Amino acid sequence: MFMCASPTIISFWSSGGLNGIAASFHFLLPEIKVTPRKQKTTNKQPQEEAPVSEKRIASDNKTVKPNKRAKAVKKRDATPTDTDTLNDTKPVKRPRKKKLSEQEMTFPSRVVDSAKKIGGHVSTAKGIYNAILNARLIGANAFQIFVRSQRKWESKPTPKDVQERFIQDCKKHRYTADDILVHGSYLINLANPDPEKYSKSYEGLLDEVKRTEALGLKLYNFHPGSTTGQSSVEEGCLSIAQAINQVHKDVPNVICVIEIMAGGGNTIGGDYKHLKNIIDQVKNKSRVGVCLDTCHMFAAGYDIRTADAWKDAMNEFEQTVGLKYLRAMHLNDSKTDLGSHRDRHENLGKGFIKWDAFSAIVNDPRTDGIPMVLETPVPKEDDKQEIYTTEIAELYRLIKKGKKQPVSTKKSAKKA
Ligand SMILES: [Zn+2]
Ligand SMILES: [Zn+2]
Repeated sequence: MFMCASPTIISFWSSGGLNGIAASFHFLLPEIKVTPRKQKTTNKQPQEEAPVSEKRIASDNKTVKPNKRAKAVKKRDATPTDTDTLNDTKPVKRPRKKKLSEQEMTFPSRVVDSAKKIGGHVSTAKGIYNAILNARLIGANAFQIFVRSQRKWESKPTPKDVQERFIQDCKKHRYTADDILVHGSYLINLANPDPEKYSKSYEGLLDEVKRTEALGLKLYNFHPGSTTGQSSVEEGCLSIAQAINQVHKDVPNVICVIEIMAGGGNTIGGDYKHLKNIIDQVKNKSRVGVCLDTCHMFAAGYDIRTADAWKDAMNEFEQTVGLKYLRAMHLNDSKTDLGSHRDRHENLGKGFIKWDAFSAIVNDPRTDGIPMVLETPVPKEDDKQEIYTTEIAELYRLIKKGKKQPVSTKKSAKKA
């Protein structure tokens, strides 16, 4: 049986591509609808595209010119997977599929009454409100979106009716501002010592934070940036803190969530001390927080592969930064080993981190109540529903299962 802590299943689902998974979890109770084909909310969901490399952002802070392939992919839909694999995916032309209306969609089981808010990064293609249905389609209790193209400085404003529909649909599907993360543009580098480039970054930040607020949201997650090698870490942290202080003045309510980074080079944020340094200089501490990305933490050198290792890493976080600042998590396995300083996301259990870590995370009361979203890779956007539904269900299944880990993870704890 489906072994969540105290799950109440509020809806049931079935779709052609997912029946197998449902069967394997044995949690499918009566199906309310059966559709013979894969569910989707939009006709042309673009495939995942890797984000701009940190180095590129660090070095020039310019708009990255996408190549022809990349141009064919809608930028706002990309899953923020990793920063090392730019242009390693090809857009695939697929035949148009009939767009299903909300009434025609069937949603996977969604766990309620759990302290854990688990979900994934979802597409906003064809209207930012589509993110909500995309979240339902993966059984998410939390989700993350981009509020504009993450690769362009300029972006059209979101129409008022679209904003209102987003807010209404959130209510309808019972997602609150505490469950939703906005992920900032990769172009923004608030640690850039070049005044012009800093200023452009700040304008980008301000625009995105305003968009976040207009959608009734409050958690704005962003990459702290890079010194580009032109200034010290201390100066970089100060610069980021000043930007946060300014945006707090310019926009009410939104909480700036600083994402931990894989570190290395001139990147800020690959060390708890950097996060602490920034937060120390933020005046309104109630409006700043941290997002711990498991792949980034691990790549930065924080071992989390066993329950004990996770505990130690969190204790260190608590002592260095403070638990009250933990506002979100990104749940990703890592394609590269501990301390690699490479940002290469992998599907849960398939990388160097493995399931023991994710089991420890979902069973740690310190991660209660914060959005925890997947940014794991998918071959193409169409595959996301199946992959994310499975990963989310597995994470919920692990709750309170203690030491019983999937067989395939046994080795992970012993890896050096
Ligand atoms: Zn990443
Ligand atoms: Zn990120």
